[in-house]
Amino acid sequence: MQITGKTKVTGIFGYPVEHTLSPLMHNAAFNALKIGFCYLPFLVHPENLDSAINAIRALNIVGVNITIPHKEKVMSFLDEIDEEALFIGAVNTILNRERKLIGYNTDGRGFMKALEENKIEVKNKKVLIIGAGGAARAVGYYICKNATSLAIFSRTRQKSDKLADDFKKISNCKIYVEDSIKETGTFDIIINSTPLGLKDNDPLPIKTENLSNQQAICDLIYKETPLIKEARKRGCKTLNGIGMLLWQGALAFKIWTSKEPPVDVMRKAIETAINP
Ligand code: NAP
Repeated sequence: MQITGKTKVTGIFGYPVEHTLSPLMHNAAFNALKIGFCYLPFLVHPENLDSAINAIRALNIVGVNITIPHKEKVMSFLDEIDEEALFIGAVNTILNRERKLIGYNTDGRGFMKALEENKIEVKNKKVLIIGAGGAARAVGYYICKNATSLAIFSRTRQKSDKLADDFKKISNCKIYVEDSIKETGTFDIIINSTPLGLKDNDPLPIKTENLSNQQAICDLIYKETPLIKEARKRGCKTLNGIGMLLWQGALAFKIWTSKEPPVDVMRKAIETAINP
């Protein structure tokens, strides 16, 4: 990649930011299309978020991704927020349109694209989401508009109740909170949106004995988690978090460039980084 006076800058604001795979994915895509964009990591301390957002305007940055811990707080510094991001209560992508900053959230749509390309159909299905944080909200936003039923199970009942109440406002699907999951076999699709599985000694988020080849088991964590391994052993269709990461990035790419993202190039960049 050659940086010139015409190079358009994008990037990611996070704290920490060192772990992110997004620069690899986006720079590979910009290189492939030769469109004169670059993508940089910016370590933004929470107390500097306001100034960093102003710098998008001041430095004529085309757009940025927003990651932990800024996704919610950033909303108060933007000029406009799209409907989906407003519902989710978090922004992961900003577009600078002539100094007007517009916030989007591409996580939920990214997950749906990953399901679609793996031929996991949500329509008329019974779905269970484990966890009730930001990712559960982003993913559930689309699930609840398509599924027959959506169960939410998380360790903090108050959060599951709030999420279920909010989903009920936007969908006609049967939405309910589970206090414990005994019958994992009754769901068509199960989605782990907790960090359980990131660490080697984490317990499984659900019991896996009753899983069968009629079910799809999804984990939002990028790596091959014990849940995904167990589910595969039982013949389930499985999906890890790489697809969601890829597609949320591809959707952001399109927002910034108005061009079709080279998805295969982006996928290869992420997969090579995860499994060198
Ligand atoms: P979050 O807002 O912090 O929510 C995490 C949820 O998991 C909460 O419901 C939390 O419960 C629950 N949880 C946390 N630790 C737990 C434990 N030890 N046992 C049981 N439940 C636990 O986080 P998030 O942004 O939703 O992210 C969740 C996961 O999705 C992370 O692993 C993240 O890496 C992944 N993710 C992946 C992508 C992707 O592109 N693939 C995108 C976004 C997120 P409490 O509320 O009770 O703490």
